[in-house]
Amino acid sequence: MDPGLYVVATPIGNLADLSQRAVEVLREADLVAAEDTRHSRRLLDAHGIDSALVAYHEHSAGRDLARIEQCLAAGGSVALISDAGTPLISDPGYRLVRRVQDRGCAVRPVPGACAAVAALSVSGLPTDRFLFEGFLPAKAQAREKRLAELAGQTCTLVFYEAPHRLRDCLDAMLSAFGGEREAVLAREITKAFETVRRASLRELVQFVAADDNQCRGELVLLVAPAPRGAQGEIDAATRKWLLRLAQELPARRAAAVVAECSGLRRNLLYDFLLTQKQE
Ligand code: SAM
Repeated sequence: MDPGLYVVATPIGNLADLSQRAVEVLREADLVAAEDTRHSRRLLDAHGIDSALVAYHEHSAGRDLARIEQCLAAGGSVALISDAGTPLISDPGYRLVRRVQDRGCAVRPVPGACAAVAALSVSGLPTDRFLFEGFLPAKAQAREKRLAELAGQTCTLVFYEAPHRLRDCLDAMLSAFGGEREAVLAREITKAFETVRRASLRELVQFVAADDNQCRGELVLLVAPAPRGAQGEIDAATRKWLLRLAQELPARRAAAVVAECSGLRRNLLYDFLLTQKQE
């Protein structure tokens, strides 16, 4: 096995979703660096792998990190895994990968499961462009602010969310994106209670409100791209500025000022003001 750090994806539910190459790398590596060594020992045991395990967290320092670095410096091989899926995707590993690269060691991916990509692939939403947002802030105000910033994005949005925050999160999405926007709840992917539900945000809020089981297990939320045109491309903050300015200036002038500051097309902003007047 060539020396270096191997970033190895592990299953997100179904234990069979571990590639043959991943098994070989985990078996032959001098060390396996894992987020939670007890959790990962179960995975290794299930595949008959008895490699040495060492703990690695994003802020690892001291003995564990030294062990990983000494192994690599001596020309050995280390496999990095997380509790589930692809390391570094809302999981630890970023600092280690940089440190190892900066010391001239090879870093090699062993790709496999990732909840975001698995959810996207079965969502029925556009996949040509997507924005992986990971976890939203837990506090309501910060979450609302971030969602307002994302409201005008014209690509599919992908979020990780904790089950106990699902209802609040969907309510916040309903306010930020509107009830008509399509969204997908992808829950327990590759597990016994796998559910993929595509509906408008309004319907999804009702669906989750009516069934406590939807607030259990692991989940990915996806939101359809903002519609192109006046409503979609203008984010919530810009919309607010524009409407306020239009109270002080003629619509054309307000649109021109906001176009200059935001980089958006003047006609797009003007059309938006006209639709608001009609409403
Ligand atoms: N590194 C992982 C990956 O590649 O997907 C993600 C780790 S992150 C700490 C854990 C989050 O991923 C969960 O809170 C959930 O949002 C999502 N997730 C993981 N497994 C999942 C599954 N089987 N079904 C749905 N979402 C899952």
